[in-house]
Amino acid sequence: MKINAPDHILSIKPYIPGKPMEALTREYGIENPVKLASNENPLGPSPKAVAAIGMAARNLNRYPDDQGYELIGELAKRLHVERANVILGNGSDDLIGMLSLALLQPGDEVVIPEHSFSLYETAAYSAGADPIFTPLSGDLTIDLDAVVQAITRRTRLIFLCTPHNPTGAYITKSAFEAFISKVPPQVVLVVDEAYIEFATDANCLQGIAFINAPCTVITLRTFSKAYGLAGLRIGYGVMPENLADLLNRVRQPFNTNLLAQAGALAALKDDAFLEETRATVHRGLAYLSKALIRIGLTVYPTQANFILVDVGQSADTVFNCLLKQGVIVRSMASYGFNRCIRVNAGLSEENERFIEALTGIL
Ligand SMILES: *Cc1c(COP(=O)(O)O)cnc(C)c1O
Repeated sequence: MKINAPDHILSIKPYIPGKPMEALTREYGIENPVKLASNENPLGPSPKAVAAIGMAARNLNRYPDDQGYELIGELAKRLHVERANVILGNGSDDLIGMLSLALLQPGDEVVIPEHSFSLYETAAYSAGADPIFTPLSGDLTIDLDAVVQAITRRTRLIFLCTPHNPTGAYITKSAFEAFISKVPPQVVLVVDEAYIEFATDANCLQGIAFINAPCTVITLRTFSKAYGLAGLRIGYGVMPENLADLLNRVRQPFNTNLLAQAGALAALKDDAFLEETRATVHRGLAYLSKALIRIGLTVYPTQANFILVDVGQSADTVFNCLLKQGVIVRSMASYGFNRCIRVNAGLSEENERFIEALTGIL
């Protein structure tokens, strides 16, 4: 039977995730694959988060706290904002969906710098709005002038990812300040900071500092990357109260589950684990970039936990060859970079296996 779906829904490209390790074992019989494809935490989750989840599991007969009282309280305290400025999401992806539901109508425009996270485009299409893509600068940083030029009377949302997935580039505070002075007040600016915990440059933009700016700024963060809880699905947005009020109208009741709230709270308080994660990632990135340059490849500077690598040939081919050797990375062909792969920092032995396999292939 033919299903009549609206054209804007048919425009959505289904999300392509990194290949799960189990799939490699199933398809190629490889027993101990290395996954450096989804920017996950190589150390695993914080043991304190695992313990808290175990305790919380005893209460699974109960609905979770819809207001996320404890977790939002701890976030507000640490980020120096009010509780009313924070909304939890079932992953930060959930907040992107809420923005789409609450703010977009058919005919609206959503400005997205190209080669970015595909869910921004999905958010536009799912509401019948039009994604407007702007070019990156030659060095693959986000060109904020091009974003300003793309703004029209119909622009409702702008998505900026910093540090940027998949390039690793970032927006500076001063560049953002100059930029927002040119953005009309009816536009909502989304600053996706999924990788902010890895940034080392003191000039790196932190969107939360702009919560009182003349145009609306919402900052998205997640427990999926630095906090090692990708499988748990929890993230949050920090925004002015009037935007929080709108998002709360479309937020699904109990959108973050009981285990996720408990695990995220324990992970947030585990400062030592976060420090160890950062140190591991920065050591891994230093090793990877040195080794990649040594084998003659171009790497892009990064403030995230991954590196964009120009492999000088079909990224899909290199990706498939690596797969057969038990190493999972991401081909960036689906992001519009046909000759680039993205690899995240893993444990030393994982990084070494990747470099060994790649050297063999090239
Ligand atoms: C990983 C990632 C997220 C986080 O998604 P979750 O839904 O919180 O797991 C958000 N934005 C970007 C750009 C990412 O790479």
